[in-house]
Amino acid sequence: MAMYDNQDVARIMQLVRPNIRQLKPYSTARDEYKGSIGIFLDANENPFNNGYNRYPDPRQMELKQMVSARKGIAVENIFVGNGSDEAIDLCFRIFCVPSKNNVIAIAPSYGMYHVSADINDVEVREVQLNEDFSLPVDALLEKADDNSKLMFLCSPNNPSGNSFPKEQIVRILNEFRGMVVVDEAYIDFSDSDSLLTILLQHPNLIVLQTLSKAYGLAALRLGLAFACKEVMSIFARVKYPYNINLAGMECAKQLLQRDINTEVAAIKQERARVIAALGSIPSVKKVYPSDANFVLVRVGDAHTMYDVLIAAQVIVRDRSHIKGCEGCLRITIGTPEENDRMLEILKKYEESHLY
Ligand SMILES: *Cc1c(COP(=O)(O)O)cnc(C)c1O
Repeated sequence: MAMYDNQDVARIMQLVRPNIRQLKPYSTARDEYKGSIGIFLDANENPFNNGYNRYPDPRQMELKQMVSARKGIAVENIFVGNGSDEAIDLCFRIFCVPSKNNVIAIAPSYGMYHVSADINDVEVREVQLNEDFSLPVDALLEKADDNSKLMFLCSPNNPSGNSFPKEQIVRILNEFRGMVVVDEAYIDFSDSDSLLTILLQHPNLIVLQTLSKAYGLAALRLGLAFACKEVMSIFARVKYPYNINLAGMECAKQLLQRDINTEVAAIKQERARVIAALGSIPSVKKVYPSDANFVLVRVGDAHTMYDVLIAAQVIVRDRSHIKGCEGCLRITIGTPEENDRMLEILKKYEESHLY
């Protein structure tokens, strides 16, 4: 049962852009009649069956039922999008009036919040994380005004790798007057709880997850959003009717059955090994702790290290130009062989500079 009342829902609806609140959704051909039908002459499809000649289910019921079973969240609280990117963009399109409303975001964090804000002509009010990448809760709350509709928190955060304490996020949920979007793309690699455990207590909470990381399905482009059913029904109205294609849904239904625990455990084990090994390389000044499938390292000369790795055909992410990440590279945890190769290149480079 949802632990919020009609007044809470009314308050959330006031955050929605007026044009979206009044939106009459495009009704797809199959929406209007619910009975059983044998002959489909309503959608101008090609009648000759090849497996893909019919439009797919715009509500993605079967896929959502599988997600529901895996996550323990009701179908009415789930949105499936074309990657998390679609869910992020929908947050802007649903809540933010262009060139009027603003959003609050932490920095450094995921770049897509800014891209989506720029596309939608919405101001981003950035709040720098503390030096140790912890959350400056007061500063975040102080940045907000009556035009602040969204606050983006990424936990575990990309690129810093740390998660934020649940109590701090709950305080923001209770005190911030807009929607709080918590991006949990890396939650499966973390030992902390997902905020899905408190989803129904906070009608202003939107949790983003994805099948791109721990589930290993980046190529399928399937992102998940979770929120109260009132917010999810607005997402359903604003999205493109057929935002998820049938081939992707079929693949996902097959691959979502897999047990990901073995792979996730292997990645976490490698993460510990890579962190220890990087720590013993003298030119690595700092290895930040990580709850994700990557590690952020501060090195002497990030550009040179990056070039050395590139020359050996290994690519990492250079984050050194980002405020708060000066001198930092972000390194994804690969297979043991891939990680060994990366470490070997760095060690060799180090040795060649000792003499
Ligand atoms: C990788 C990542 C995502 C996933 O994006 P998709 O569009 O679902 O592939 C979302 N948020 C963050 C912070 C990420 O790093």
